[in-house]
Amino acid sequence: DELISQIAAGEVIERPASVVRELVDNALDAGATQITVRLLAGGVRSIVVEDDGAGIPAPELPLALRRHATSKIGSLHDLESVHTMGFRGEALAAIASVAEMAIASRTADAPHASRLDARSGELAAAARAVGTSVEVRELFFATPARRKFLKTDATELAHCLEAVRRHALARPDVGFAVWHEGKLVDQWRRATGEGVTPRQALDQRIADVLGDDFLTQSRALPEAAALGHTVRIHGRVGLPDAARARADQQYVYVNGRFVRDRQVAHGARTAYEDVLHGSRQPSYVLMIDIDPLRVDVNVHPTKIEVRFRDGREVHQAVRYAVEAALAESRA
Ligand code: ADP
Ligand code: MG
Repeated sequence: DELISQIAAGEVIERPASVVRELVDNALDAGATQITVRLLAGGVRSIVVEDDGAGIPAPELPLALRRHATSKIGSLHDLESVHTMGFRGEALAAIASVAEMAIASRTADAPHASRLDARSGELAAAARAVGTSVEVRELFFATPARRKFLKTDATELAHCLEAVRRHALARPDVGFAVWHEGKLVDQWRRATGEGVTPRQALDQRIADVLGDDFLTQSRALPEAAALGHTVRIHGRVGLPDAARARADQQYVYVNGRFVRDRQVAHGARTAYEDVLHGSRQPSYVLMIDIDPLRVDVNVHPTKIEVRFRDGREVHQAVRYAVEAALAESRA
């Protein structure tokens, strides 16, 4: 049984960055406005994710660790239109099967926080503000073969940072901070606020996360990019004169979820070829909003791939939107 759950965990948890991704997903689902990630040794020794979200009631802490326990999906119908990042109830159970884990949490109406140690099952009173902290230590300690697959701390740290970046771009309304070995390595303040339009907030977050250069050397997709009735796209594309577009600056989100999708990538690449004759490495942040019934997010263990009901429709919308932005920049 333990073996089966460890094998299943391998699909979701490959490295420290997978843990970071899942824990930040959960913090966002809990309505956090500030998320802090603390890492030791690239996350291999320790990952702590703290949030100021709704918290977990103490009696439900043991349940959160159980496989297929989710508080987010009530029926098969819900599964067709998930709007939370998580919905399978697998992440915490998977992490607990391959690492030491503890959760400390406090809801608004609780007199104090409670902390559950996953290994011993011990539940004790703890001190913290409303929200949740999940600590994950010694990833893959019991599976040396898998631990050997991990790269240097610096590489694992880079992957962890990339995982946070992917979330941060999608959520300018949430503040993020990442610490490594007690030093603050990245921090992005909440970009939303009174009098700030969603577009301004996204631009601010893009500048914070991808750099001022990306912001100044890119163009927002035109409003008209709300093409068709079922697909809406906003975001930014890197301009032809961008100093040096980087292949890794390609961020695609479907309904707020970071994804990799061949058809989207191809649509964007085709637009760059049509307008710039392929002289540039495409770089972009594309926020695709689509009717949840027209996309299946439940096709990949890490949810990084999705299946569109009509892939051509999305391909076309991306191509036109990116072409429009690039063409406008040349005029
Ligand atoms: P899923 O996210 O798919 O529901 P997880 O294994 O990631 O499954 O989490 C299990 C459950 O634990 C969640 O459904 C949620 O109720 C609770 N939970 C996990 N992390 C948090 C958090 N940071 N804040 C509040 N609740 C959480
Ligand atoms: Mg989850």
